Amino acid sequence: MIRLLDLQRINATFEPELGRAVARVLASGRYVLGPEVEAFEAEFAAYCGSRHCVGVANGLDALQLILRALDVGPGHEVIVPSHTFIATWLAVSQVGAVPVPVEPDAEGFLIDPAQVEAAITPRTRAVMAVHLYGHAADMAALREITQRRGLQLIEDAAQAHGARDRGRRAGSLGDAAAFSFYPGKNLGALGDGGAITCHDDALALRLRRLRNYGSLEKYRHDSAGINSRLDELQAAILRIKLRRLDADNARRRHQVAIYQRELLGSSLALAPTRAHGEPVWHLMVVQHEGRDRVAAALAGQGVETGIHYPRACHRQGAYANLRTPALPRAEALAARVLSLPVGAHLSDADVVVVARAARLACDMVAA
Ligand SMILES: *Cc1c(COP(=O)(O)O)cnc(C)c1O
Repeated sequence: MIRLLDLQRINATFEPELGRAVARVLASGRYVLGPEVEAFEAEFAAYCGSRHCVGVANGLDALQLILRALDVGPGHEVIVPSHTFIATWLAVSQVGAVPVPVEPDAEGFLIDPAQVEAAITPRTRAVMAVHLYGHAADMAALREITQRRGLQLIEDAAQAHGARDRGRRAGSLGDAAAFSFYPGKNLGALGDGGAITCHDDALALRLRRLRNYGSLEKYRHDSAGINSRLDELQAAILRIKLRRLDADNARRRHQVAIYQRELLGSSLALAPTRAHGEPVWHLMVVQHEGRDRVAAALAGQGVETGIHYPRACHRQGAYANLRTPALPRAEALAARVLSLPVGAHLSDADVVVVARAARLACDMVAA
């Protein structure tokens, strides 16, 4: 059986360092917002090429806190991709604003900058770019629009730790960026965790306050903040895993090169890559008309696959009352996408086995 993801196997390769880090935090007596969090924030900001990093409890909170810190709220609209994980939309809803979906272009799955301008209204405050599956959105094109129209540009970088656009890393490309350290992400903790990166000093200070009851000084509350803090244990673990992030991402790229070679000419549509992007392949997503039958044929050959995501956000019960335009691209993607295994739990030989099984699966479906 070749698994889509195997966290136990991946995390075991970080021993004994992870165990030592846990012991160090246990002995320190500091468990929430302490020296490990401060050190991780400095290291991750430097890694992303951003001035500031603020550790928070998870990726959804990171997105929500950015919107709050930028004063986005009731009566406002935020432009979001029609095809994304639902957290992108939920963050907008949580601050009382309305998500306004924009479709990807005909081949891709990232927000199409050419369609953003038509979605802007007097109520629009921000554009949320999602670097989906580890591919950076076209930030230069989005930046041009948001600057000209006086809007904020926010990155949802939860799937893109280390990805680049025109040489610059995700997390340094907009006004602020949200990261998740959910265990399965490219940089994953052993529990929930998240971070916000930004260049602006005043924004970073507002975010530090908001994540901790609106307080920078004990028992003085300058704004109505929330409790969304990163803990020392997760920060210590993330510091160790960060050191290997570039090597892990390079390994993902190598595995994808194998897939690209082995799947050339097959009926699976591979992810398009932009000339100026350097993806980190959080997921290896292919498309096929007969997706469910291909997945079943792969399962029959001992290959586990995933679907990210099987139902478009606007088709979810959570958005039953939201009036959206027709979103045929988002619906087509929900019906067609299939995630093949990628990551540090796989050998090159495993990837070849999966690719050949996928070719066979396509032949079986066609027959
Ligand atoms: C994982 C993810 C999030 C949310 O992160 P959590 O830490 O699970 O809250 C947000 N956006 C995208 C695109 C994600 O993949």
